[in-house]
Amino acid sequence: MLSYRHSYHAGNHADVLKHIVLTLCINSLKEKEKPFLYLDTHSGAGRYLLQSEHSEKTGEYLSGINLIWQQSETPELLNTYLSVLKRYNPFDNLKYYLGSPLIAKQLLREQDKINLTELHPTDYPLLRQEFSKDKRARVLREDGFSQLKSKLPPESRRGIVLIDPSYEIKDDYQKIPKALLEAYKRFATGIYLIWYPVVSRTQTQKMIDEIVNLGIKKISQFEFAIKPDNNQKGMTASGMIVINPPWKLQQQMQTIMPWLKNTLDTEKTGNYLIKELVPE
Ligand code: SAM
Repeated sequence: MLSYRHSYHAGNHADVLKHIVLTLCINSLKEKEKPFLYLDTHSGAGRYLLQSEHSEKTGEYLSGINLIWQQSETPELLNTYLSVLKRYNPFDNLKYYLGSPLIAKQLLREQDKINLTELHPTDYPLLRQEFSKDKRARVLREDGFSQLKSKLPPESRRGIVLIDPSYEIKDDYQKIPKALLEAYKRFATGIYLIWYPVVSRTQTQKMIDEIVNLGIKKISQFEFAIKPDNNQKGMTASGMIVINPPWKLQQQMQTIMPWLKNTLDTEKTGNYLIKELVPE
């Protein structure tokens, strides 16, 4: 039984980090005309109304995208991310936050393909509706991990795979390294983005160590913490593991992370990490 709904969390600091990394990776693949696949294993609903009961209840977007939205100046590297949001928010106020599928929908080209999976009985129809007229997209109510076997390698041999579970089901931490290895054996040149929360540092670090020990080369880590690790309930930090990062990504994140910290870490209790976990 899935109880997690991304609508409670859309636009929080974790989404901001994840979606910035995603837009930079999509942009890098678009430097060539050749088509590519965007595969999103855990897609969510796609679009989130920020004045909804769910969003208002947690108010998480207020300390995430909302703080960025209020800035008069933003780094150029955020232009793509912000322009995608502006298309759905043409007026000054921020009404909608966009999830990974709708970010990809706007950035991918006619020649590209989109494969989305979502299991939640309420979010799946919402997602399908967003793509009802999009010929590039397949939207399935199937297990996202199974797509890593059935949809890879893509015909185009180019692609981005976003693995973004809620970790509500604790065995997601164990499933990810195994599923990644399977996927990598089929498609070693793909860009893989794995989002992770830091709720228990021990649990997260165990998963990261397992990924590092898979024998896969070229792995980077980008983490943003809003608080130091602690033993209380709740997420203190989140991060992205990137396999086969575009060559510019590390350098781009060196510019973005200090700005993000300055903008989002209002209580000055946070930190960030940019690390090459496994070199070439
Ligand atoms: N990727 C989305 C984004 O960035 O906007 C957010 C996804 S949210 C963190 C995780 C989603 O995965 C939830 O909507 C949940 O219902 C869905 N989910 C959980 N287990 C799944 C599975 N095995 N296969 C596909 N979707 C799953």
